[in-house]
Amino acid sequence: MKNEKTTLNIAIDGPAGSGKSTVAKLIAKELSIAYLDTGAMYRALGLKACINGISVFDEQAVTAMLKETCIDIKYDGGVQHLFLDGEDVGLRIRENHISQLASDISKIHAVRLAMVDLQRKIASERDCVLDGRDIGSFVLPNAKHKIFLTASIEERAKRRHKELLSRGETVILDELTKDIATRDQNDMTRDFAPLVKAKDAIEIDTTKMSIGEVVRSILSYIK
Ligand code: C5P
Repeated sequence: MKNEKTTLNIAIDGPAGSGKSTVAKLIAKELSIAYLDTGAMYRALGLKACINGISVFDEQAVTAMLKETCIDIKYDGGVQHLFLDGEDVGLRIRENHISQLASDISKIHAVRLAMVDLQRKIASERDCVLDGRDIGSFVLPNAKHKIFLTASIEERAKRRHKELLSRGETVILDELTKDIATRDQNDMTRDFAPLVKAKDAIEIDTTKMSIGEVVRSILSYIK
């Protein structure tokens, strides 16, 4: 008889600035399970392309780069560390200019297939909360719980602005709002695994909610 242990996977999807990563981290902590930030993987590839002067639109060059790239996720006290070719790039991938590179590189099929494989492998090995764009709809269609977070574009831009300022990066709010709108459009309209709410996901509009309120409402839905 087959005895496969299934892991508990919670998918939290939504557009940039909807609160996914903050909320996902807190849910994972509350449930004492791992947290996987899938956007970090696309960011790491965007960073590597940038360092090597490779255009994120050059499918051939990116596919060749991918073959020479090692992305490794390690956990230290429940905290995720992303290693790109052996280097912890956790801080560098958060710089604002990496966001659009990540979005553009994530459109390349070979990139998505490789990252989705890695995400599925990690999710099959441990209980975890994953945040991204396509977790509930494509990566883990059988995830036990699926949440789709939204918020107005103004609110999302304000949150991202605050986050970047706290990291010492100065950006103009209006420009950030435009960048987020471009990225949303990019992510929603790509032909392969776009940003979309899975049919069986619950949707929460976080515009007027505090982080605590969002976390509590997700935990009460899960429990
Ligand atoms: O979540 P984050 O803003 O860090 O993601 C950066 C970019 O990576 C997104 O704009 C999106 O294009 C891409 N991404 C994706 N699928 C995921 C997670 C992120 O395409 N599951």
